[in-house]
Amino acid sequence: MALMDIQVPDIGDFKDVAVIELLVKPGDTVQVDQSLITVESDKASMEIPSSHAGVVKELKVKLGDKVSEGSVILSLEVAGEAAAAVPPSAPSAPATGAPASAPTAAPVVAPASSAAPVVAPAVLPAAASFSGSADLACDVLVLGGGPGGYSAAFRAADLGLKVAIVERYATLGGVCLNVGCIPSKALLHVAAVMDEVSHMADLGVEFGRPLVNIDKLRGHKEKVIGKLTGGLAAMAKMRKVTVVRGYGAFVGPNHVEVEETTGTGQDKTGSKTVVAFKRCIIAAGSQAVRLPFLPDDPRIVDSTGALALPTVPKKMLIIGGGIIGLEMGTVYSTLGARLDVVEMMDGLMQGADRDLVKVWEKMNKGRFDNILLKTKTVGAQATPEGIRVQFEGLDGTKSEGIYDLVLQAVGRTPNGKKIAADKAGVAVTDRGFIGVDVQMRTNVPHIFAIGDIVGQPMLAHKAVHEGHVAAEVIAGELLGDAALARSAFDARVIPSVAYTDPEVAWVGLTEDQAKAQGIPVKKGLFPWSASGRAIANGRDEGFTKLLFDDRPEAHGHGKILGGGIVGTHAGDMIGEIALAIEMGADAVDIGKTIHPHPTLGESIGMAAEVAHGSCTDLPPPRR
Ligand SMILES: Cc1cc2nc3c(=O)[nH]c(=O)nc-3n(C[C@H](O)[C@H](O)[C@H](O)COP(=O)(O)OP(=O)(O)OC[C@H]3O[C@@H](n4cnc5c(N)ncnc54)[C@H](O)[C@@H]3O)c2cc1C
Repeated sequence: MALMDIQVPDIGDFKDVAVIELLVKPGDTVQVDQSLITVESDKASMEIPSSHAGVVKELKVKLGDKVSEGSVILSLEVAGEAAAAVPPSAPSAPATGAPASAPTAAPVVAPASSAAPVVAPAVLPAAASFSGSADLACDVLVLGGGPGGYSAAFRAADLGLKVAIVERYATLGGVCLNVGCIPSKALLHVAAVMDEVSHMADLGVEFGRPLVNIDKLRGHKEKVIGKLTGGLAAMAKMRKVTVVRGYGAFVGPNHVEVEETTGTGQDKTGSKTVVAFKRCIIAAGSQAVRLPFLPDDPRIVDSTGALALPTVPKKMLIIGGGIIGLEMGTVYSTLGARLDVVEMMDGLMQGADRDLVKVWEKMNKGRFDNILLKTKTVGAQATPEGIRVQFEGLDGTKSEGIYDLVLQAVGRTPNGKKIAADKAGVAVTDRGFIGVDVQMRTNVPHIFAIGDIVGQPMLAHKAVHEGHVAAEVIAGELLGDAALARSAFDARVIPSVAYTDPEVAWVGLTEDQAKAQGIPVKKGLFPWSASGRAIANGRDEGFTKLLFDDRPEAHGHGKILGGGIVGTHAGDMIGEIALAIEMGADAVDIGKTIHPHPTLGESIGMAAEVAHGSCTDLPPPRR
């Protein structure tokens, strides 16, 4: 072992920046790239990562100290040969405001996203100057009323700010409430009940064949959306948040021009409103990627078109084997469609461990005629018989199919290039993302961005938390509250859920990632075939898996790093594992937490007991 000084790396033009947070203390074990301190200039705050792994011996800085490149942060005890090996890393949020919004957690607790960070373009745009007058002025303008936008707006209003939301559609709620999370789950619930009922004959209760009234089902979905979006409108009113209906685009660094829209869509009336703001939060979200070679035909839809439930096709193709495609496929197949799925990668539901996905595959193989992996869709023609689609395997194999409905679910693209961000001086990447720091601040200090537009994972719960951070930082700055102004997105993990049947949920480090990164983990796996509740429900195909840090320095009491669940209601349970990771729980903490019996949730406690070696609901561990 050797002692070495960890220094502040190159942080651009910034000199003498104040230390506002100490993130480690003597005795802590740190990993390469783990954040050590937070520093703040008048433009941005950033976390300074460790260039080496080791144990903190002594902190050489205290709160309020001023540091620059080369200042010693702490002395670290490192393994001999490591001392010279790793070059210093860049800080997690350079002052150009350009990096990803990815959480700055200890690297072993990897966020759910595997996406590359958002990297700012090399040349930053120069803001336009706007000399016109404003029709409305506010403290905070939120551009986009999705889950990120309305959450940011409501939090800012609750903290005492004058807030306006600009939204092009008639209702608030964005993709999630109108054409995403909520309508898909309304339909998936119906599908799950239908599937459950069809298994009941095995348990001694028979129902007749279900008769589907598609108009009524569509009506149910619309009612669910209406109830939630109506609730948002009421809550905006209660908070005195002004909702400006229309398409917003920047005309300067402190002004957005809104072209009024009408009806249920984006038809423009020609009327314009200019809103002046002190601070802005860009929450303009994303839209489905469209494959350019697919013909324009009503039988080819994206997720929004599929959720409209136009008809139930006999034969459906899903292009893209990710969560959105498989969720929609579940709905349509339960309603009667036969499915083909085509995916370029070597497996469906990428991101989740294969053992979880295998359980889903076994339960769902009856829905599919063909699962085409490592295969590209290369062409399609609209014919009277259906949409004729050509495929090409990575090994050169060619094939073709004909379909009544084709769902393109090949990802989503951010809306960054559609809001004239350059007029405000905000940098947008070639792909349309906007880079932010951990406080959700863009390269323009008074403009923030949140949600899908700042990067992966594109999930509503990430957008909401980012929205709260941006609102708090702004309120802190405008109202002079230093604690609020220090708010930052520091979540260690973001859970992912496929609401298929069974559900597949995972959070933090996966087993595949642990293997790839060489992180030794102790696995606690509790099979639901030993869960009283799962057996009673007639659904014992799943399992719960927890992964604990098993590096030598954890001395057999390692903290939980990740977990996954496959089974009914997995999505409702994964939050407990996320909490355990955030709290740094170990197997004893989780195993000794008394879970109610008989529940599916107790499988989490039992998986921890398996890792700890104290589980009495399974055969004894081998000695
Ligand atoms: C089918 C489907 C299912 C999904 N299921 C889940 C799920 O189960 N769980 C989950 O976490 N996530 C899910 N998602 C993803 C989730 O919907 C998004 O991550 C989330 O909505 C992103 O929120 P946001 O606020 O960033 O943006 P959005 O929800 O995209 O909202 C952006 C808003 O900005 C408005 N806007 C854009 N540009 C302008 C402009 N120039 N002027 C005015 N208004 C503008 C848009 O009209 C929109 O209302 C799903 C997505 C889809 C498509």
